[in-house]
Amino acid sequence: MNALEVSNLSKTFGSVKAVDEANFEVPEGSIFGLIGRNGAGKTTTLRLILSIYLPDSGKILFRGKEIDNTFRDSVGYLPEERGLYKKMTVMDTLLFFAEVKGKSGKAVQSRALDYLRKFNLYDRRNSKIEDLSKGNQQKIQFIATILHDPDFIILDEPFSGLDPINIDLLRQIILEKKEEGKVIIFSTHLMDYAEKMVDHLAMIDHGKIILKGSLAEIKSKYSQRNVSITFDGDISFLRNQPFVEKITDFGNTTGIRVKERRDTQKLLKLLVENNVTVTQFNANEISLQEIFVELAEDDKTEEAA
Ligand code: ATP
Repeated sequence: MNALEVSNLSKTFGSVKAVDEANFEVPEGSIFGLIGRNGAGKTTTLRLILSIYLPDSGKILFRGKEIDNTFRDSVGYLPEERGLYKKMTVMDTLLFFAEVKGKSGKAVQSRALDYLRKFNLYDRRNSKIEDLSKGNQQKIQFIATILHDPDFIILDEPFSGLDPINIDLLRQIILEKKEEGKVIIFSTHLMDYAEKMVDHLAMIDHGKIILKGSLAEIKSKYSQRNVSITFDGDISFLRNQPFVEKITDFGNTTGIRVKERRDTQKLLKLLVENNVTVTQFNANEISLQEIFVELAEDDKTEEAA
């Protein structure tokens, strides 16, 4: 069953179609990634879901009912532009946010302290927000987003400004929320992180949904003819091979698309024959980044079968 259904959603600012006839579904109990580069339309889509903007056209259903202003109260929302009262203490800030959402008392207090412990911020509970680093302020804002225990959590670029250790912490908590049966939508341009946690996703580019579906389906659909390698040596000779369709350099790895599935073995043989030291050879591996680059180039609308 779908928690959220977005159909034919559009929003224009002047001459910019920020969201262009977007259709996607967010299943119950899932972590859903809205993925795309800067300016693709992610924030606008999330703001439409939250009724911060009114759409030009289209429909958004939450558990079968069209969303209205009350829907926003049942959601935990981490906005893209972070904003906390600088002079307030950490604990007061958290309790204030929970109270705005109608939650107060001992239970909330103890949940707040639990989260502070999880994020290694327990010792800072009486510090003023302005005395915390940017990353720590962001962690506080994340805790404030989920402290009232919402069923539906919307996070706009939750990883930006966090170091890898804190990204990992955030990921663990998001996974815990999923285990509790919550629905989580987050936007990101960081495909590597998205890939490690989403169940379902929609890729957006120039306001259009260019790909959507479950991560597993999408990967199996796109991976058939793909090889990801890490190597030492020169592979430029591959460019003249008729069975090699495309070579994409991703820095740490290189993605090679062959014409037919069985060509992957031919590829490995050729690499070895040409004295390339292959340290990793993953046939049928494709990253979201690769899929995105390919689709964004074509700018065509696709749907996982
Ligand atoms: P980013 O990751 O950079 O935040 P995004 O994917 O969230 O990007 P949006 O912020 O939704 O993208 O922006 C989509 C397009 O709509 C951009 O071209 C942006 O300039 C434009 N846009 C967004 N909000 C407004 C607004 N309030 N007024 C005018 N144009 C806007």
